[in-house]
Amino acid sequence: MKGILVIIDGMGDLPNKQLNGKTPLEAAETPNLDFLAARGELGLLYPVKPGFIPESDEAIVSIFGNSLIASSRGQLEARGAGIKLTRGDLALRVNFATIDDLKSGNIIDRRAGRTLTTEEAEALARSLNKIELPCKFVFEPTIQHRATLVFKGGFSDSILGNDATYIQGKSSVQNKIRLCKPTDDDENSQYTSNIVNEFLEKAYEVLKEHPVNKERKKRGLLSANYLLIRGAGVEAPKLKQYRKWASPSYMPLEMGFSQASGMSVFSFEYPVLKDLDAYKNLYEGLKKACKFNIKILKRIYKKYDYAYVHLKETDLPGHDNKPLEKKEMIEYIDKTFFKFIRKFAPPNKIKVVVTADHSTPCKLKDHSADPVPVLFYNNSNLKEKKFCEKEAKFGTLGRMNGNDLLSKVGFTR
Ligand code: ZN
Ligand code: ZN
Repeated sequence: MKGILVIIDGMGDLPNKQLNGKTPLEAAETPNLDFLAARGELGLLYPVKPGFIPESDEAIVSIFGNSLIASSRGQLEARGAGIKLTRGDLALRVNFATIDDLKSGNIIDRRAGRTLTTEEAEALARSLNKIELPCKFVFEPTIQHRATLVFKGGFSDSILGNDATYIQGKSSVQNKIRLCKPTDDDENSQYTSNIVNEFLEKAYEVLKEHPVNKERKKRGLLSANYLLIRGAGVEAPKLKQYRKWASPSYMPLEMGFSQASGMSVFSFEYPVLKDLDAYKNLYEGLKKACKFNIKILKRIYKKYDYAYVHLKETDLPGHDNKPLEKKEMIEYIDKTFFKFIRKFAPPNKIKVVVTADHSTPCKLKDHSADPVPVLFYNNSNLKEKKFCEKEAKFGTLGRMNGNDLLSKVGFTR
């Protein structure tokens, strides 16, 4: 193996009061990452380009050298969830969410409080799949509040979803739902929007009266009474092919992306969310992911030139404004996964790149356009360094856009 690319989701952050003005990465004790940093270079990455606020899919698509129009989130997630797609099938990413009611359409929580158990999501999905529509469709819950939705047939993807938050260049956070709308004059785009809106309305009727939600209300939990959709796609992704790469992955997006990029995917079953503690589930997931990545790297490093490792959990404390949790997760990754990398990479002459797909500053509770730090371990250049946003700013690797990262560090396809 020549190189490992590690993406720590949403790791970038801004100075935080709760951490005495440090970022979670800066405040975290990360002796193993710092060991790698001291024997390499630091730099800053604009995951797509300066000024752009990336979603995870946009960032990884860019980092692997593609243009943003080469794929859609819906297609990547549906493929990652194992749904068979033919051309013209409309694939969407879905969140179970909470609204007050359909008429006023105020979004109370975009993830139904992040407390939806796997069992509940599956029960809701069974009822949603019985909705009557003029076309066939598949609704498939994936992990926690996430799901994917596919309408079968010849649809258009020139539509905007119903969550105004996910529109690039938004001026303020909008907390209202809206109808799904066509973005061109094509008849099929109008037809597609109508079908999607019909489904969303019927879904609301099914969800709001659902026994699962009645039970949740009794327990003082947010009702998963609405579906937020985004990332519409009808075309198969046309991504650059990375056939010498292996991807140990577990989230539908990363699995779908890796498959569509020609990588060999190794996946494990994510722990189910059994009770209300979403963070307990996140830690279980992170623990399993670190262990699994180590196991796969040991097993396959002689067979593949590169590996793409993506750890998802660190994004969530950013969205929930939990800087301490974020710091703790980074420390956990350092003392497990990077402790292994520190011993594994040098004797095998493996180069390592560590970065993030975007910043998710705790105080913004959302992704931001801020650049993320990059660590490039190439066993050179011994100089004490702390891997953090501050030192990365002055790093010798310099600044780059997503599209330039792999060529800058010499990772090939
Ligand atoms: Zn992300
Ligand atoms: Zn995020």
